[in-house]
Amino acid sequence: MHILKRPEAEVEALAQAIIDAKKQMGLCTVCFNLSADPICEICRHPQRDNKIICVVEDSRDLIALEKTREYKGKYHVLGGVISPMDGIGPEQLNIQPLVRRVSQQKPEEVILAISPSIEGETTTLYVGQLLKPFTKVTRIAFGLPVGGDLEYADEVTLARALEGRRELDYF
Ligand SMILES: [Zn+2]
Repeated sequence: MHILKRPEAEVEALAQAIIDAKKQMGLCTVCFNLSADPICEICRHPQRDNKIICVVEDSRDLIALEKTREYKGKYHVLGGVISPMDGIGPEQLNIQPLVRRVSQQKPEEVILAISPSIEGETTTLYVGQLLKPFTKVTRIAFGLPVGGDLEYADEVTLARALEGRRELDYF
């Protein structure tokens, strides 16, 4: 569609439609994934395993993991990583809702699938400490390049990283 050739009213209507669509797109109240409904499709899905929750930085990482088709559990989207340099502390992320969710649902395992950057590492250890009293906490294997985002990893690498996950060790 050549937008510049269309009548102005038509372009305005299109712009409004885009704005409306953006407004409707909210976040799932359970896992904070992008969702038009209050509870997203994955959280509602009867075949998805409630006993396992995979924690990711953002919805793009969730999509990357979904593409592997290896993971059948639920998710929790943090909305970023702890980064004091950027003024992002734990309270800016969806960490408290995660702790509440895990303490109430008592899943058998929480997988931390956060990129292995310095900020990601800090976030993994921080979240792991908070969840440890409630469940087994694992992290995906480092099959990924350091500093690389999950969304850039190919599906096979991601599937292996997920499969090779191990229990988080604390120091
Ligand atoms: Zn959800």
